[in-house]
This record gives sequence, C-alpha cells and structure tokens, in this order.
Amino acid sequence: MKPIAFARAETVDDAITAVTARPNTVFLAGGTTLVDMLRIGAMQPDNVVDVNRLPLTELEITADGGLRIGAMVRMSEVAADPGVRERYPFLSVALWKGATAQIRNMASMGGNLMQKVRCPGFRDVAFACNKRNPGSGCGVLDGLHRGNAVLGTSEHCFAMHPSDVAIPLTALDAVVHVQGPKGTRSFAFDDFFLIPADTPHIEHPISPDELVVRIDVPPLAYATTSHYLKVRDRESYEFAAASAAVALDLVDGSVANVRIGLGGVATKPWRARIAESMLIGRSATKENFAIAAAAELAAADGSNPMNKFKVTLAQRTLVRALETVTVQIGGHK
Ligand SMILES: Cc1cc2nc3c(=O)[nH]c(=O)nc-3n(C[C@H](O)[C@H](O)[C@H](O)COP(=O)(O)OP(=O)(O)OC[C@H]3O[C@@H](n4cnc5c(N)ncnc54)[C@H](O)[C@@H]3O)c2cc1C
Repeated sequence: MKPIAFARAETVDDAITAVTARPNTVFLAGGTTLVDMLRIGAMQPDNVVDVNRLPLTELEITADGGLRIGAMVRMSEVAADPGVRERYPFLSVALWKGATAQIRNMASMGGNLMQKVRCPGFRDVAFACNKRNPGSGCGVLDGLHRGNAVLGTSEHCFAMHPSDVAIPLTALDAVVHVQGPKGTRSFAFDDFFLIPADTPHIEHPISPDELVVRIDVPPLAYATTSHYLKVRDRESYEFAAASAAVALDLVDGSVANVRIGLGGVATKPWRARIAESMLIGRSATKENFAIAAAAELAAADGSNPMNKFKVTLAQRTLVRALETVTVQIGGHK
C-alpha cells in the first residue's frame, strides 16, 4: 500500500477546503469500503480527509412526517430508530439486512450511498475496468458476472449497484444534499445515481470535492405498510442477488398508490416506474403483480448465461414483496 496523507476535519467547511486544496484527495467516513479499496489498490488517493467528527448527525422525523438523516449517522442508528421503524419499516429492514453488525455500527449513511461496486473486475486490479481506468475496457464482460446487473447496463460496464438502503430511498423519492466549494446543491435520488452508459467512471453528478451532507425523505403516509425483501446466496453478510422495496396503499382491494425500488439487479438503485404505473387502479392479485413485474424486466439484458437467472429472480422477488405487503394490509384476494 502506498503512503497516504491523513487529515481530520472538524467542520464541513474544513473538510471541503482540505479536499479542494490537494489533488487526489477523498473523504474517509466509516472506512468500511474505502479502507478495503486502499488495501486492494482499486482506489489510490494521495490524501484522505476524515469526516467522522463533522456534526452531520441529525436524525429526526420532521413536523410533516418526513425524515431527515445527516450523512454521518451510522447505518445501525437509522435501522434502530423508533420513528424510522414505525413510519418507514422497509428502510429499517433494508439497513438491518446489509453487511454485519460491526460494519453497520461504523458505516455512515453518506458513505453507504457513495460506496463502490463489488464487481470482481473493479476490485481486482489484474482485470481491465472502465470504472477504475476509463477507456481501458472491461475484463469480466465475458466471464465473472454472476453478481452483476441486468438492468441499466452498457457495453462498457454492468457492475451492480450494491446498496440495500438506497432501494427504499429511491422508492421514497429521497433528496440528497451536497456541499462543496461553490455552495450547496440538492438532487432527486434517482438523479444522484448514473447508469454507466459511455462513462462508467462517473457514478454521481457531483465532483470529488462535494460532500454528501444530508438525505431528506419526504413524507409518505402509506410507507407504514412497506416491505424490503432481500434474496441472497446466504441469509447474512451477503449482497442481494435481487431485492425489492415496496410501499403499497390499497383501496377496496385495488392499488391506489405504490412505490417500488429494485436492488441487486441494476447498475443503480432501480425505480420500477413501469411496474408502478401498471399496478395503479388494478386489483391486488398475484396475476397483476406478475404482469407488472414482467413489464419492468422486459428491457433486462438476459444474454449472459452467468446472470440471466436474475431476470426471473427479480420478477419473483417483486411479486413476493407485493404479496407480503398486501397480506400485511389484509387485502389479499
Ligand atoms: C463485507 C461487507 C459486506 C457488506 N454488505 C453490504 C450489504 O449487504 N448491503 C449494503 O448496502 N452494504 C454492504 N456493505 C457496504 C457498506 O454498507 C459500506 O461499506 C458502507 O455503507 C460505507 O460507509 P462508510 O461510512 O464506511 O464509507 P467509507 O468506506 O468511509 O467511504 C465509502 C466511499 O464514500 C466516500 N464518502 C464517504 N462519505 C462521504 C460523504 N459524506 N460524501 C461524499 N463521499 C463520501 C468515500 O470517499 C469512499 O469513496 C458491505 C461492506 C462490507 C465490507
């Protein structure tokens, strides 16, 4: 591992000044992704700025019933918060189902959104990787892709987006606030994550000197009836093979409102807008759920024998999550 200069910031302004002052500087939050990346050489900054002392620790239900989460709040704290568990149960469950207790206690919410992909091509510097080294090619395109994405892929990259909590957050239309040398900016959650297209190395519309400072969740009354289903190779310490975050509102057995995020299968947290629009006004039946899920996955790339199982798995996961919430509400036909 090459030598890396370390600095600790006490204020947001200090952190931004420190990261702007020297090239190739990155923020260090809980370090649960970054330190791995440094060890394996997938990221090679010259400097890190520790942001753990920044006062970005607010976690509150707002007067209108929304949620405000500071970037340095730890995953475990959000998962255990009584207000989150009551109003946004799928957010809490998505956090509990991520990583391990030790990692959740260290990992910050800002770092979670900014975590790096788990693609073996990105993590192993022996492979070419368009994310790590733009234009160098993808060394795993014809090989190791069991875990990679089938939605939002391009010929240059199909690395799967790994965050669990980002899946309910996309369903909730969360807003990500960042601060940089030129001031503050806010992004709709869906806009904060970019599909790889021709520029897989650009994962977010922010620059390296911009710090995620807060995540806001607008109020959504029917999120109290929500579910996060994570399907994976083992029940703990494993990323999703497919996941679905569903919040549902039924009136007389029909879908009045629905929000859906899909995880484990896409290059960004996937907002399933096609499925949502097909479900509105329809009876909450398994048949209708399956039709909507199939429509959402119609554009999936199932050409690779290693991961084409995800096309079917994602549909089944979504149908089961929708059924689970329907039963919770007591509206199953
Ligand atoms: C073994 C293992 C299993 C895991 N399993 C899961 C899982 O099942 N589900 C899941 O969702 N996650 C999983 N994770 C990932 C884990 O959730 C992330 O590592 C963690 O959330 C990152 O947060 P952190 O604070 O440690 O970030 P760091 O590691 O400190 O930083 C991660 C990246 O974000 C940048 N960064 C950090 N904070 C900010 C900020 N405020 N603004 C801008 N950039 C920032 C850093 O520069 C770095 O590039 C797993 C991790 C490990 C090691």
